[in-house]
Amino acid sequence: MKIKSLRRLRNFSNRTFLLRVDFNVPLVNGKIKEDYKIQAALETLRFLLKRRAKIIIISHLGEPSGPSVALSLSPVAKRLAKLLGRPVKFLSGSVLENKTQLALTKLGSGEVVMLENIRFYKGEYTNDSKFAKQLAALADIYINDAFAVSHREQASVSGVADYLPAYAGLLLEKELRAMAKIIKPQKPLVVIMGGAKIKTKLPLIMRLKNQSSQILIGGGLANTFFKFQGLTVGRSLYDKNGKSEFRELSKNSRLNKKIILPRDVVIKDRTNRAKVVVPSAVKSTDTILDIGPKTIAEFASYIKRAKTLVWNGPLGFFEDRRFKHGTMAVAMLLAARSSGRAYGLVGGGETVEALKQSKMANYVDWISTGGGATLAYLGGIKLPGLKKIVSK
Ligand code: ADP
Ligand code: MG
Repeated sequence: MKIKSLRRLRNFSNRTFLLRVDFNVPLVNGKIKEDYKIQAALETLRFLLKRRAKIIIISHLGEPSGPSVALSLSPVAKRLAKLLGRPVKFLSGSVLENKTQLALTKLGSGEVVMLENIRFYKGEYTNDSKFAKQLAALADIYINDAFAVSHREQASVSGVADYLPAYAGLLLEKELRAMAKIIKPQKPLVVIMGGAKIKTKLPLIMRLKNQSSQILIGGGLANTFFKFQGLTVGRSLYDKNGKSEFRELSKNSRLNKKIILPRDVVIKDRTNRAKVVVPSAVKSTDTILDIGPKTIAEFASYIKRAKTLVWNGPLGFFEDRRFKHGTMAVAMLLAARSSGRAYGLVGGGETVEALKQSKMANYVDWISTGGGATLAYLGGIKLPGLKKIVSK
């Protein structure tokens, strides 16, 4: 894999860099609840500042369908200035306005400005080439440091790279190097998958099926298997649209042997009581909400032998503490094995949340900032945001 890294560039001073980051932070009443994503971008920013570049930051926040006060990046610019210890000028006007353009021409070496939420423009979503050109005209070099949106065919992610030399930011580069350790793993590789939709997880399973020793499955994903195997899953979460994916996975007998489904599950019964049962004993009034203790023990036996571990998707409804045990156990087992005996990578919005809840996040080798992008990249899907940046 060849990455067009930012480190390869010379001459930074006096050149303008259009830096696409992912500052899609959780906001509650205009307050930033968690600034991990902003912190993760600091390395690239400091690298550029040290070399006296002119920096224009682009990010999205949420999924607005037009300008919206609630989704303004203004509080994010303030937080960034604080973390960076430098002023960050926030340009609230449209990028297409003269006023904004004028402010950008005045940008000095070693200065940072941040544009308003790029998703306020329809052209961003539609990857409009005129809009992409207008963005490109603002700068000399484009840097993608927003891995989490690199699976999107959008103007500030992929379109703009058609009109400017494109490079990988330092965070993006780290993400790619971490995932390379999963694609070419030290064996045994153990894949752990849970969560909801089978469709987004199938490419990863298919891509890693030959490399992996076991694929441990829990959560709504396991329920989907049970359902299409003809078992009763009652009121459990499963992917109704996943039948063809299930068929594809189960027709391959070598793969079938590697897929480890829960041998016991925790259900909530009609009277709202939690109970451990075998999957074949689930009734139509039950809801499967976690993997059971025998399953945890079996999963543990595989995790303890792994040299490479990759995990996406909670193994149960961990948001309810009665059903968090499977997910917490896996989080702790994976973290305990990581940073030494195995290389451990964890990705996915809720999965990372669960890992943090286990208080073991510091021991994992890499926590991916991407959910959908991580699954797609590990699944071998070409990401639009990487087309000018990564080659074989
Ligand atoms: P990620 O965001 O980490 O990629 P997903 O979005 O695929 O993960 O799925 C996460 C959600 O799946 C969690 O909110 C979790 O509560 C839910 N979940 C997992 N297993 C079950 C289950 N058995 N029943 C209900 N919800 C579940
Ligand atoms: Mg999710």
